[in-house]
Amino acid sequence: MIRAKYIIKRLKEAGFEAYMVGGAVRDHLRGAMPHDIDVATSAAPEQVKALFERSIDTGIEHGTVMILIEGQGTEVTTFRTESGYTDNRRPDKVEFVNSLHEDLMRRDFTINSMAMTEQMDIIDPFGGREDLKAGLIRAVGVPEERFAEDALRMLRAIRFSGQLNFRIDPKTKQAITRHAERIQSVAIERIKAELDKVMVSTAPVISMSYLIETRLNQFLPSGGLFEADWSGYAQSDDPLSGWFYLLKQNGETFAVLREYRFSNQDKKDLQRALEASDLPEWDAWVYYSFTERQLTIAQAASHKRQSVREQQAALPIRSKSELAANGRDLMEWTGEKAGPWLKQWTLLIEKAVVERRLANDKERIKDWFIDEYHRHT
Ligand code: ATP
Ligand code: MG
Repeated sequence: MIRAKYIIKRLKEAGFEAYMVGGAVRDHLRGAMPHDIDVATSAAPEQVKALFERSIDTGIEHGTVMILIEGQGTEVTTFRTESGYTDNRRPDKVEFVNSLHEDLMRRDFTINSMAMTEQMDIIDPFGGREDLKAGLIRAVGVPEERFAEDALRMLRAIRFSGQLNFRIDPKTKQAITRHAERIQSVAIERIKAELDKVMVSTAPVISMSYLIETRLNQFLPSGGLFEADWSGYAQSDDPLSGWFYLLKQNGETFAVLREYRFSNQDKKDLQRALEASDLPEWDAWVYYSFTERQLTIAQAASHKRQSVREQQAALPIRSKSELAANGRDLMEWTGEKAGPWLKQWTLLIEKAVVERRLANDKERIKDWFIDEYHRHT
């Protein structure tokens, strides 16, 4: 807030208008901490850049520059409208306009279409404050038209319902139901980003029931999957927990991972989480062999939850490199050259140490190893 206020002050001193806008104003009025603050201004991008020492052109063609203050970025966007979303990816053309009002008009929902001065005065042309009090998500203007401009807004309405624990205004909901099929024209990355936000929202159950009620899910890849019973899902700050829950409830349909273009890391973590969740019991070796994230995700569908971090912190070692003996020691003790035996025996030692059958001490490992080695060779 301090940085945004400083930026606004600078812009105003230079003769421009500037306000905090969008989600930050909404969150401020809800008494929540805004995670980032967007500034809207009458200054053109080049004029904004000229006033500050450090900036990054994050989206200059859309009128956005990021101003860096003490290493922290604040997005400053020139008042604009957007029109013609032929591919539903980005507006065909962005037009700069000279009033705040026009800028607020292009925004999606009344609660997202308010501005705030640096003195914290609220500018609220569409009744956002009232809707915020009533817990309502309502499109600015005619919902049909707004969803025709950008079909992603339908999914955003559903995402905000779970994020804020709000209802969707009946007219807005009706328009989503009527135009649900339009979601198919939206780029999958944008869809996935909204669904990820649903997974980490305070009430995914609300979003999911709107998704199904409006039939929007039927026009999403593997959309039937979302018709799961979400009542057993616990709030999480990792979207993968939600996807894991989905796969678990539906019997692991891996097409989803491809369709929604998961990163390789996420694919791996999801698959490992599914493996872990199929194990009857989690012993020390399981805590050792899976990552904290994989095991935490795997708890999304189970009722008993415990701190994976604590369990892992209690392990005698966290990785092979912490073993008090290494491959070179083993070769020295046996007089053998490197080979597959080395890997097998290292694993046996690792397991014995993790399971506390053997202390992680070089002499103890040596005694144990020589004894076992001679017994088996
Ligand atoms: P979050 O807390 O998730 O960041 P937010 O309201 O800041 O919520 P953003 O996606 O960061 O959401 O967008 C910032 C603002 O830009 C919104 O508050 C809204 O005013 C506007 N906006 C974003 N996406 C759209 C869209 N597709 N159509 C119209 N306005 C949009
Ligand atoms: Mg935001």
